[in-house]
Amino acid sequence: MSRKILVVGAGQSGLQLALGLQSHGYEVTLMSNRTADEIRSGRVMSTQCMFHTALQHERDLQLGFWESQAPKIEGLGVSVAAPGSHDPGPTQRAIDWVGKLDGHAQSVDQRVKMAGWMETFSQRGGQLVIHGAAVSDLDYFSRTYDLVLVSAGKGELVSMFGRDASRSPYTEPQRALAVAYVHGLGVRPEHPDFDAVRCNLVPGVGELFIMPTLTTTGRADILFWEGVPGGPVDAFKGVKDPSEHLALTLELMEKFTPWEYARATKVELTDANGTLAGRYAPTVRNPIGRLPGGGAVLGVADVVVANDPITGQGSNSASKCAASYLSSIVDHGDKPFDEEWMQSAFDRYWDTAQHVTKWTNTMLQAPPEHVLNLIGAAGQLQPVADRFANGFNNPADFENFFYDPEKTAQYLASV
Ligand SMILES: Cc1cc2nc3c(=O)[nH]c(=O)nc-3n(C[C@H](O)[C@H](O)[C@H](O)COP(=O)(O)OP(=O)(O)OC[C@H]3O[C@@H](n4cnc5c(N)ncnc54)[C@H](O)[C@@H]3O)c2cc1C
Repeated sequence: MSRKILVVGAGQSGLQLALGLQSHGYEVTLMSNRTADEIRSGRVMSTQCMFHTALQHERDLQLGFWESQAPKIEGLGVSVAAPGSHDPGPTQRAIDWVGKLDGHAQSVDQRVKMAGWMETFSQRGGQLVIHGAAVSDLDYFSRTYDLVLVSAGKGELVSMFGRDASRSPYTEPQRALAVAYVHGLGVRPEHPDFDAVRCNLVPGVGELFIMPTLTTTGRADILFWEGVPGGPVDAFKGVKDPSEHLALTLELMEKFTPWEYARATKVELTDANGTLAGRYAPTVRNPIGRLPGGGAVLGVADVVVANDPITGQGSNSASKCAASYLSSIVDHGDKPFDEEWMQSAFDRYWDTAQHVTKWTNTMLQAPPEHVLNLIGAAGQLQPVADRFANGFNNPADFENFFYDPEKTAQYLASV
């Protein structure tokens, strides 16, 4: 008899897991609080830039439906505003380089991807239930399913999973987030020949990320400000009107990153739902949610490990978590999915996730001198730029040359 699994939440991790389990012959029910059409016509949710390894997990399940349409992101650039140069006037770049990615990255608007995957799940015979699950529902379902996976992102269901203080150094949001999807952005004149994610660091103020995406209206670009709380870019609270949101985004670009503003003077929003603003505290949680009736459920991706998007890792991690859990489930055969198994499945995922959390939490801090040296050296030494860029695909590599000043010095001496 096939095993019955309930997946709660139809985002990157939940859909990838539901479709993966389905292809392995499990009887899968997927619970989503929104229909595919509501997702497709709703608000943007992310910038969702995914690097090679995460994309490969999708390809392994034949789910890379948009690969040929989505812009191929072949590089990752870092620019650092020269200190003081934005006070008040013209801004210069102290650092400006682009590293080449070994495998391309892509961003497919989650509105397009999740709506499409949800329809595929139903077409393949999966049971889709449109319902916002409450803890009381899960109590019941934990008795009727062999396994309940909670992949509901950063929503209310996380309250079932205790915060792991030893792995969560921050109790407050470290950045205010503001996203705008636009058409009409020009290319960066230095490298008009290939697409790259552009990371613009403005010390003490925040970061501006720019990347191409495939959205509901075709190719677009995303302007994504991360503002240090209380600073000048933490300015989007209460801005409800999308055109006001875009105007503010551009105003801040003109002030702090004029080299990016120069190519943004003709942009317009992709659609009225093409903006997003908010903030959250990066949090690692205990993976097992215990229900009032005694049942247990396993948390997935953002539910258990939510990092700040400063390093663009959440969707990548969601894909890696889904792939890891899928293997853990399949490897477990017919044995019961008890709490011991749940903990071991999470521990296997944490082997990779811990590197993402460590690196992301480090990047939220002002960089120490050896990191500034490293980022500066990447402007002269292309292999350093390339290695840094490829760290976005495999953050475990930062252990080898990023955190420890001695290792950084050794690495730079060896290049
Ligand atoms: C501004 C911003 C920019 C980002 N940029 C990047 C990036 O460039 N690269 C990257 O890799 N990551 C990025 N991320 C992070 C990434 O979007 C998330 O980490 C990723 O989507 C998490 O996937 P998930 O499956 O855990 O949850 P989600 O994608 O959040 O999916 C959860 C789903 O569950 C549904 N749900 C919630 N509650 C319930 C309920 N009670 N019942 C049923 N359904 C429910 C939600 O509606 C949602 O559809 C960014 C995030 C933000 C906010």
